[in-house]
Amino acid sequence: MKTQLSDTVALLGDLIAFPTVSEVSNLDMIAYLAHRLENEGARVEIFHDEIGHKANLFATIGPDTDGGIVLSGHSDVVPVDEQDWASYPFEMTEHQGLLYGRGACDMKGFIAAAVAMAPYFREKVRDRPVHFAFTYDEEVGCLGGQALVESLKEHGIRPGVAIIGEPTMMRIIEGHKGCYEYTTHFHGLAGHGSSPDRGVNAVEYAVRYVNRLLELKDRLRARAPSSSRFDPPWTTINTGSLSGGVAHNVIASIATLEWEMRPVQKSDADFVKSDLAAYVAETLLPAMRQVDARARIETETIAEVDGLEPMDDNAARDLCMELTGANGCGLVPFGTEAGLFQKLGTSAVVCGPGSIAQAHKPDEFVAVDQIEACLAMLTKLTRKL
Ligand SMILES: [Zn+2]
Repeated sequence: MKTQLSDTVALLGDLIAFPTVSEVSNLDMIAYLAHRLENEGARVEIFHDEIGHKANLFATIGPDTDGGIVLSGHSDVVPVDEQDWASYPFEMTEHQGLLYGRGACDMKGFIAAAVAMAPYFREKVRDRPVHFAFTYDEEVGCLGGQALVESLKEHGIRPGVAIIGEPTMMRIIEGHKGCYEYTTHFHGLAGHGSSPDRGVNAVEYAVRYVNRLLELKDRLRARAPSSSRFDPPWTTINTGSLSGGVAHNVIASIATLEWEMRPVQKSDADFVKSDLAAYVAETLLPAMRQVDARARIETETIAEVDGLEPMDDNAARDLCMELTGANGCGLVPFGTEAGLFQKLGTSAVVCGPGSIAQAHKPDEFVAVDQIEACLAMLTKLTRKL
């Protein structure tokens, strides 16, 4: 395992040196990983986004069959702007067993470990394939992950198990809530504050919309599955910001509301969306349009990242528990790409080196012993394949 560790550390250094902040292209890093994997005999597919600026990588070692195991990670990292780093964030430094650099734990450490294992997979894997799935734009709404799942569907690729290596300190995570974010725009009609009936007050309609969200918030509590282990156990809604209008004596013509929900089950998200759509169509819009036919309410979807629903049957969880010897698993509050794989029919868990406590922060690091624990899990995995 010594060479695997030194290979992983060297590879992590190379990956950190690609400044793959979500807003810039990840193509150089993807080309580098594709080259490494091809050299180890992997069959590599690269799926570009619409404008060819970014790409997902999907690679396979082993037989061409269903039921393989996916090792999944996102290639993008969050920005370092306005963060005070002790060293240059895109050059890895090592200090007392900790490897520092942007993306060290979130989540280039896992990608490096997975790719460093490729020679061993090539040597040992016989019965079931191992896949590598490296995506773009996870940090801005799992855009690459959504596209990748579509590509896999088109190609008829059906992996059995997915391990998403987000930093969990190698704990096995079998569930997290979804994260759905929206911006709702209200367009009314301006006028003099002394004649409120001659205008359409966008702020007032936004407030009525928020009231509806508050009602839904209460109703969602009652919908919580009795077996839910989330904290809190129900789907939550948060009103993040509400702005609009210009002055005391002017009817507000525009208002903007930013809000989110964190569903514990997909049916809750559908329930909220259809309730709001009906409320807008049957109550708010008719009232607004009595005064001005051009009045409108538009909801922009910022992200709809599905949760990972804890399941009684979860082959990924059972496999990882066997590999790591863990006797339990947990839930986390942050979102990942795991729910996308679950939707594809692949059982999924989140399990990776490093801690979420260091993610997105200055002086992000991953501990060498966490990388070792990850390599130990992947080595045992090799024996199972
Ligand atoms: Zn991440």
